[in-house]
Amino acid sequence: MNTEMTARNLYRSLETLPYLPFVTDEELRERLEPEVIQALSLLEGLSQTEEICSRCRGKCCHEMGCELFSPELEGCPIADYRPLLCRFHYCEKFGPEHEGLVKGLRDLFVSAASYGEAESRVVLGLELNMLLYRACRKPEDPCPPLVENIRQTASAAHRGEISWQEAKEKFRKEVETYRSKKQMERALLHAKEGRAITPVAVSF
Ligand code: SF4
Ligand code: SF4
Repeated sequence: MNTEMTARNLYRSLETLPYLPFVTDEELRERLEPEVIQALSLLEGLSQTEEICSRCRGKCCHEMGCELFSPELEGCPIADYRPLLCRFHYCEKFGPEHEGLVKGLRDLFVSAASYGEAESRVVLGLELNMLLYRACRKPEDPCPPLVENIRQTASAAHRGEISWQEAKEKFRKEVETYRSKKQMERALLHAKEGRAITPVAVSF
């Protein structure tokens, strides 16, 4: 694989998504090169058949302090919209024989992101992705409404004011609202500029 070219292509295709960091399997698959799809499918398939991530119960999500993670939820509550950083992250539990692949995918993603300018969608999406992780946030960092709403929902579930099932539904709604809002902003911007927009599949 020509990593530099693949990373550049990945950056360009991700930049077409207005609602990063949240992305569906289909949206991502449409934008990846066959070798990358193959690598992700291999690890994902392995995770499912050998129950690697489900048995681990989200150690990485817990360690990053993801606002969406809770052991009560038994898995990512927004699995089908999960953010980019989560999608390119696998770990040593996939075995030494897959160490190269795990590292290769991580490096590819870091390299793709490095092509982004400060205000690019990929970089802004990544910033939001990082703000979701408490481990990557300084106390003085502002929490955008999406993260703040997720925090409040999780707190209400921890206090027993709502069930975890309700919390999961609210998390998903929050992400779907964010995606719709960003999609709308993009359509308005293109309308203002008198450009036609390329339709992007939104799966809700
Ligand atoms: S990537 Fe690794 S740490 Fe994260 S859930 Fe899967 S097995 Fe656990
Ligand atoms: S968003 Fe990512 S880090 Fe958070 S729970 Fe889901 S997979 Fe884990």
